[in-house]
Amino acid sequence: MDDGDRFDDMVLQERKSAMTAISPITSISQGHLNIWEICRRRYQYSFLEELSLPEADLQRKKILLLGSNFHLLMQQKELGLDVSLLASSDPKLQSWLDAFEHQPPEMIDGDRLCEHRRTLERQIEIPLHHSENSDHGQACFVLTAIYDFLILGDRKAQILDWKTHQVAIAAEKLKNNWQTRLYLYLLAKTTNYAPEQLSMTYWFANTAESVIIHYSQAEYLSTENQLKQILTEINQAINYPKLPLSSPDCNYCEFRDRCDQGDMLSNHVSGNIADIPEVKI
Ligand code: SF4
Repeated sequence: MDDGDRFDDMVLQERKSAMTAISPITSISQGHLNIWEICRRRYQYSFLEELSLPEADLQRKKILLLGSNFHLLMQQKELGLDVSLLASSDPKLQSWLDAFEHQPPEMIDGDRLCEHRRTLERQIEIPLHHSENSDHGQACFVLTAIYDFLILGDRKAQILDWKTHQVAIAAEKLKNNWQTRLYLYLLAKTTNYAPEQLSMTYWFANTAESVIIHYSQAEYLSTENQLKQILTEINQAINYPKLPLSSPDCNYCEFRDRCDQGDMLSNHVSGNIADIPEVKI
């Protein structure tokens, strides 16, 4: 699910606090990490200035709402509630529910958790610039994930994520996305499962296809190092530069106007999952 919906209530505080030994806590989701890697200016607009979609972008808002309603429907279904009324409110919702009932993803046995939030506090050492004896302070981040569906089995755990993209996205692209990297890392870090006992299944409602991502100790360690580096960068950032003109990552960005990067392209395929529309309505 898009973190734009889920993290609206988060207050991100600007991280220019190297003058104090204890800096404020910053919540970090996969959305923050993905956008930080794509464009610093986009991170500034999205999270520091908390600029939202322009009112005119009704189409995108409708798509986000439909995706949210599907997640709500799946949650209610898991609770044993009657979802027929909600499903019949939109033909797309009904077809996605039908697809799930006829071709659900493979699921392991175990304890089932819906819309499950997991957090992990990470401290990053930061130099105190005003100090003459090279003292260090600490910056505190809370890594946060909300799992659409999580199954904790005897010797395995499985994360499931519902996607309403028009077609399934390739495994390699999903594997590199911070949603996969952070969700698996957080689960490994907050449970006793070995990384090899974890997997993440993306289920695409439009085509009823599943893409399964397996996990390993090497990937876990790699994510640990990447997180340390990115959190340090976020903490120490002073400038948030734009990408160079004509960068492919600007093609679908909602801040193109603000950045003077021209009109949004309609026939370009974005390399970023967050930019790929989930459905056409
Ligand atoms: S338009 Fe390009 S430079 Fe501006 S915020 Fe978006 S991605 Fe960054």
